[in-house]
Amino acid sequence: MHSTRPNRNWKELPNKVVHIQRKTHVALRLLLLGLPIVLIIILAFSHFYSRLNSLLDAEKQSQYENRAQGCALLIVHHLESDQKRLLLLAQSLSGFTLEQNLHLVESLGESDISLVVDAIADAAPFSVDAAAVVHRTSVETADGKSAVLQLKVSPVAYRSMLSCPEHAKSSRMMWADEDGSIIWQFKADEQQVGTESLAALYPAWEQGGLVSFLMKDNASYTTILPLGNGYGYFVLESHDKLLEQAYLTILQASLSMAVLVSLLLLSLLFYLLLKDSVYERSLLHLAFRDELTGLPNKNHFVQEASQLLERARSPYAVIILDIGKFKLINDHFGYAFGDSMLLYFSKVLPRYTTKDGVCARLSGDKFILLCSYREKESLDRRISVITEELKRFSFPGASPFQLDILIGISLIEDSKISINAAIDKALFALSALKERQASGYLYYDEVLRSQLLEESELDKVFAKALKAGEFHIVLQPKYSLQTLRLVGCEALVRWDHPSKGLLAPSQFIPLLEKHNLLVTLDMFVLEQVCRLIKQWQLKGLPLLPISVNQSRSYLFNTHYEQTLVELIDRYEVEHRLIEFELTESLFLNDVKHLSKVLSSLRRHSFLVSLDDFGSGYSSLTMLKDVAIDKIKLDQGFLKGTDEHHRGKVVVQHVIAMAKQLGITTVAEGVETGEQVHMLQMLGCDVVQGYFFSHPLQVSEYEALLIDDRLPSS
Ligand code: C2E
Ligand code: CA
Ligand code: CA
Repeated sequence: MHSTRPNRNWKELPNKVVHIQRKTHVALRLLLLGLPIVLIIILAFSHFYSRLNSLLDAEKQSQYENRAQGCALLIVHHLESDQKRLLLLAQSLSGFTLEQNLHLVESLGESDISLVVDAIADAAPFSVDAAAVVHRTSVETADGKSAVLQLKVSPVAYRSMLSCPEHAKSSRMMWADEDGSIIWQFKADEQQVGTESLAALYPAWEQGGLVSFLMKDNASYTTILPLGNGYGYFVLESHDKLLEQAYLTILQASLSMAVLVSLLLLSLLFYLLLKDSVYERSLLHLAFRDELTGLPNKNHFVQEASQLLERARSPYAVIILDIGKFKLINDHFGYAFGDSMLLYFSKVLPRYTTKDGVCARLSGDKFILLCSYREKESLDRRISVITEELKRFSFPGASPFQLDILIGISLIEDSKISINAAIDKALFALSALKERQASGYLYYDEVLRSQLLEESELDKVFAKALKAGEFHIVLQPKYSLQTLRLVGCEALVRWDHPSKGLLAPSQFIPLLEKHNLLVTLDMFVLEQVCRLIKQWQLKGLPLLPISVNQSRSYLFNTHYEQTLVELIDRYEVEHRLIEFELTESLFLNDVKHLSKVLSSLRRHSFLVSLDDFGSGYSSLTMLKDVAIDKIKLDQGFLKGTDEHHRGKVVVQHVIAMAKQLGITTVAEGVETGEQVHMLQMLGCDVVQGYFFSHPLQVSEYEALLIDDRLPSS
């Protein structure tokens, strides 16, 4: 049966929209907070990276330049010292003839030094080519002849002087002449004779200038240095793997540092947001969940239900369940037991809520469901299954307690109806059910609707009816069982409704009481009674007490007595002629206060009687604490066949006890001769009932007064 298909666990039922809202909320905050942080991290890191990069580049550049300068200095130093050696030798040769000089040079035995005779005197003092580096100087001989002394060195000698072999492997060295044509170059120990020019190799280079530039593509660095003195240019192309590696390692380390720091920052952010959202969730939980049962609360229900209704494709019903006499259960079995009952309800109900519905605890002992349905029959079935399941809750031991469940239902056929209106209607149906003192379920319908409408106008209608004289009293005689003579009467109100006809009190008294209007009616009745007695006084009729019923709500008004006394005295009615009938249930609330009010009424010489005695919860022992003149036995004692005997026993004891306390006993609702006989046997004092007389019109009662005898019925 689809109507009882178990629903998913209520825990999975949290407000989806709130959930989504929360998620988007967190996501939005993450985006708003996280994005700028990530951007800042990226910007800071790229700035840091480029700073580091340029610092490292500058460092590398100066290292390579220093190295090139060192090499160049070394070359220049060697060239100059060779030149000096040559000049010194040329000087020492100047005192000799050419012949002697030739001998002397030869005897030096240095193959790279030679004396060239007939050489062109103005030959360049320095030249360099692929084969040799040549220094020249002219020699003046003693015999006036001229010759040129020349020193010829292999360029390899310069290269080998330059640096360590480690350098040599990773570098390219070049020597170019004054015009920038490369004379020789070494790369990885290999000598190559150059034909290219520096300008062709390094287009960025300008003749005469010093240029250092980094060639990033192959991570090599080139420095071009002029050697001066017409020696040309020295070029060093460095490619140092060690330096490159150090450089890369520093970059990598800084990159991982940056990543680490940003990860840390991001996780901190996540943590803070998560903490926030957990806190938020617990707040949401408080705002949307009922603490005891964990079910959604009313707020949550309203929110979720309105969203469900917006998307509704089938009709929905709002079902409100109320546990009957829950206060009594709490009082009797304790609050922990009451709580366990609520928990049981909170477990059962979600299982019988439709998938597209929601279930919540509305308040104290009220639960609410929103369920979709197809036709009313299936809804009826669902409700009876729910009731059955709920009634399985067991009471302790052999307790005869019967669980009463009251259900008010309103149907939402038009999705435009607000959920709050639907809840109000279901609540109205529930209270209507309570007023009827029934259990089971009641749908909110047209009849209830008009009742609701009527109630909303009750104030005006009642005031108008009172003014128009639609209310009047009837009087029901009371007789002494001993003398069988009339001893008084009870005033009972009637409403002669213009459209509904004559209404009995049960048709309007509970309603008036609910709307705090009964007090006005009671005052009206009392005034009618006073007026009557006054008239009878004037007419010289025998005067017997008349009892009036008193609304419970008024008793606790501080001006109660004063108002009564003022009214009665205005009509100059003897106080002993007025009897107040108060129902027993009044005593439940505040015995002390009530006892005070009653004593004070009695001090004013009014008669006070306890109505419907035995129908409520009060005990006989209460009689000794509260000062009253009479008790009216509840009609129930005389009714029924099975319980006839039990009723008789109770009545017997009540009468006996009342006698001991000096309280008069009145039996009402006496309908048969047997009852009269039994009451006589038990010693009851006064009787009232259809057996003797129905409530009478005033004129009829007046006739009785004159007669002052039992009417011949
Ligand atoms: P109650 O005070 O217990 O009044 C007795 C009720 O029992 C009256 O109903 C009366 O007509 C009815 N009754 C009398 N004899 C018999 C009998 O032999 N058999 C049966 N079955 N019933 C009998 P009524 O007039 O309909 O009043 C109903 C209740 O309405 C009263 O119960 C009283 O509680 C309340 N009531 C009536 N008038 C007033 C009033 O002016 N003010 C207040 N506050 N309540 C009133
Ligand atoms: Ca009464
Ligand atoms: Ca009564």
